[in-house]
Amino acid sequence: MKVKKEGLSCISCGLHEGVASHKILPHGHGKKGILIIGEAPGTVEDRRNLPWQGQSGRLLEKTLAQLGVNLFEDCVSVNAVNCRPPNNRAPKPFEMDCCRAVVLNNIFETFKPKVIILLGSIALQSFMSPRWPSDLGAIAKWRGWCIPDRDYKAFVIPTYHPSYILRIDSREANTVWKQDLEKAVEAVGKPFPRFQEPTIEIIEDLSIFNDAENHIDEMAFDYETTGLKSQGKGHRIVCASVAFNSTKVFAFMMPDTKLERKPFVDLLTNPSIGKMAHNMKFEHAWTLNRLKVEVQNWHWDSMIAAHNLDNRSGVTGLKFQTYVNFGVIDYSSEITPYLRSDSGGNGFNKIYELLEQEGGPEKLLKYCALDSHYEYILAQKQMDEMNYNDLPF
Ligand code: URA
Repeated sequence: MKVKKEGLSCISCGLHEGVASHKILPHGHGKKGILIIGEAPGTVEDRRNLPWQGQSGRLLEKTLAQLGVNLFEDCVSVNAVNCRPPNNRAPKPFEMDCCRAVVLNNIFETFKPKVIILLGSIALQSFMSPRWPSDLGAIAKWRGWCIPDRDYKAFVIPTYHPSYILRIDSREANTVWKQDLEKAVEAVGKPFPRFQEPTIEIIEDLSIFNDAENHIDEMAFDYETTGLKSQGKGHRIVCASVAFNSTKVFAFMMPDTKLERKPFVDLLTNPSIGKMAHNMKFEHAWTLNRLKVEVQNWHWDSMIAAHNLDNRSGVTGLKFQTYVNFGVIDYSSEITPYLRSDSGGNGFNKIYELLEQEGGPEKLLKYCALDSHYEYILAQKQMDEMNYNDLPF
C-alpha cells in the first residue's frame, strides 16, 4: 500500500542511520481490513526490507493461517518504529512519536481498518499514548479486550507480541494469545456498534424527580465531592447526576436546603427503585454522612461486576471500562486534575477552583452526568453478559 510522504522527516529520529532498510513501509494487501501494529523490524526484516520475516513473523503467520487469515494478503502490517533500533533495543517514545507522524497516522488516510491488532506493549504505547490520559500500565491488563474505538471506528484488540509467546514458551500464554487473535478475526465480520450520545439536562429545580419516582424502577447516580472522605470536617457533595435510562441524564449542583434536596433524597430512599453506582460504597457513605439518609435498595455496583467479569488488576476503573466497552477514550482528563488532593486522602481537592473558572460549573456537571450515563449503560451490559435477568433468583 502507498503511504503519504509529507509531514515530519524521518531524519529527526535518527534510527535510519544504522539500518540496512530505511523505514520499512506498511506492507500487505489488507483484504480483510485488518491492521497489525508490531514493535520494530528485527535483523531479518531489516535485511529483507519487509515486516514479519523472522521467527516471530513465522509464528504470527502460522497462527493467523489457522484462523483463516493470510498475514500478507488479508492484513496490512506496520511497526511502532519502522527502522530497526540498534541491538534490538526497545524503541524510545520520541522514536515512536516520529514514526507515528510519518507512517502510522498516514495509514488511516488510505486504509480504513475494521480491526486493529496491537502486538505487545510497544504497539499499545504507540497507538494509545497520544490519546490515553494516564499511565497505560502493562499489556496484561489490555490484552483480550475487543474495543470498539470510536475515534477510528474500528475494533482494537491488544494482545501479546509473538516474540513474547516464543520466549516464555508457555501453553497457557499460547492459548490466550490464540484466543485473542481469534477474537480479532471474529471482529472482522461484526458491524461497528452504533452509539447514542446521551442528552444531558442540567437542572436547578429537583421537583422534576417527584414525577419520575412513580414510573422508574432503577437509576444510576454519581457525586462529585470536595474530597474522598465523606466524614471529614468541611467536606460536602458539590454536585450529582442521575440516569434513569441509557439516553438521558440529569445533573445538578447539590442544593443548600433540605427542602430543595428532598425530591432527590426521596429517590435515594425509595425502596422500589434499584440503585446503581460505580463503587457504591463511595455514594453510600457520602449520602449517609452528608444527606443523613441511607440509600435503599442497592441493585448494582458496576465496579464489583467489572471485577467479577475480569479479575485482572487495573481494569475496574470507570474510565478504563468506558473505553474498553464503549470506545470512548477520554471524557475526563480536563476535570480529573481538579478532583485530586495535594494533601493526602483526607484533604480537599481543587473542585472550587474549577467552579470559579468561566464555564467550570458546566464542565463539572457534564463530566458528572457522563459518569452516571456510563455507569448505567455499563451495568446493563454487565447484566447481559452475566445473564443476570435469567438467573433463577
Ligand atoms: N517484530 C515486529 O514487531 N515487527 C516485525 O515486523 C517483525 C518482528
